[in-house]
Amino acid sequence: MAEEEVLAEVEAVQAVYGDDCLLIEAYPPHLHVHLKPRTADVSSQQFVEATIGMKAGPLYPEEPPEISIIDSKGLDDQRQKHLTASIREKAFELASCLMLVALCEEAVERLSDMNHPDGNCPLCLYPLLDKDARLNSLPFMKLMSCFHCFHCDCIIRWWNWTQVQSEKEITSSSTSTSRIMQDQQGMHRVMEESMGKCPVCRKVFLARILNTCLAWLALVAIWIFQKSCTDLKTSVFSGRKDQGNPAVAAFLQ
Ligand SMILES: [Zn+2]
Ligand SMILES: [Zn+2]
Repeated sequence: MAEEEVLAEVEAVQAVYGDDCLLIEAYPPHLHVHLKPRTADVSSQQFVEATIGMKAGPLYPEEPPEISIIDSKGLDDQRQKHLTASIREKAFELASCLMLVALCEEAVERLSDMNHPDGNCPLCLYPLLDKDARLNSLPFMKLMSCFHCFHCDCIIRWWNWTQVQSEKEITSSSTSTSRIMQDQQGMHRVMEESMGKCPVCRKVFLARILNTCLAWLALVAIWIFQKSCTDLKTSVFSGRKDQGNPAVAAFLQ
């Protein structure tokens, strides 16, 4: 295939992916493309992303490009292998056709299929999503810096524990004057300004995102309270209707 046609294809990839496309070499094409699932416009709904490397040789497109994952978030080894294998399979299917855009689309398709947190909460080792009863799953959150996911309850407890540890370190290593100053700073140090490190990969995150967790936990507490009231109300008004405590019944209404 003529070099001009291949160069035109590279331009097309750049046009489609803009800043997400890093051109290493125009000919033979060598690109890194940062790809997200289709739902990525809503960042809270994005749990995976990957930068795919496509390195073609002089025989491209008769010979498919080499495919590699340069970087990824939210994908364990197994899902990374699945993604690479799917793109390679597509590349062999399309051999002798210009395929770079199609390979990116294949990757986006697979990322969209895999766009959910997988496995267990790294802190308590219980599943993030209860596959049999999704409605019963505990609320979880994602760190934007690395896409590692944790139950809200677990990350808040972990965060509080790290705060206690760092307070202890300050106390044991400070003079009394500076300790007083640090205690005051500590009291005024709100989550808005604090930085944390992911307990799995140590990437830095802004602690203010934990506020979302606190909001979720408050909502869950209200929901549990309302549910327990409803359950109690049911038992008062149905099962033990004639023995129901009028004071309780009045409160529940
Ligand atoms: Zn957990
Ligand atoms: Zn992490």
